[in-house]
Amino acid sequence: MYCSNCSEHISDKAEICPKCGVNPFRIKNYCHNCGKKVNENQEICVECGVSLTRNSTRGNNNTQEPWLMALLSFLLTGLGQIIMGQGKKGAAILIGSIILGMFTLGVSALLTTPLAIIDAYLIAKKKKEGKEVGDWDFF
Ligand SMILES: [Zn+2]
Ligand SMILES: [Zn+2]
Repeated sequence: MYCSNCSEHISDKAEICPKCGVNPFRIKNYCHNCGKKVNENQEICVECGVSLTRNSTRGNNNTQEPWLMALLSFLLTGLGQIIMGQGKKGAAILIGSIILGMFTLGVSALLTTPLAIIDAYLIAKKKKEGKEVGDWDFF
């Protein structure tokens, strides 16, 4: 992305522009996406159509409340994980717990359900703290 203060090309993960020292989203001199000059009152860049407000390209879009994700995985094993973007893992947990449940006449749910709840809670917590969570990361 580009620094919105000085239009320097900087890393997408940069919190501070290494050239001018400004938080890249605080000032709206340039579009952070295409580097074109913008007006500070503009909400979107007319060049590329991207939103100029903070956190538009990264950050909290995927943040979910840990207790809510835990509750969802209690209602349906793996649902919390699916909603948090771990679709394949959530589906694997769901299908795995159903198959295990059939073989054990439901007894395995005593193990898989609490594990899915704890996993959903801890993954949501990690995401909330801004940590990277891979598609298949557990706990
Ligand atoms: Zn800069
Ligand atoms: Zn732009």
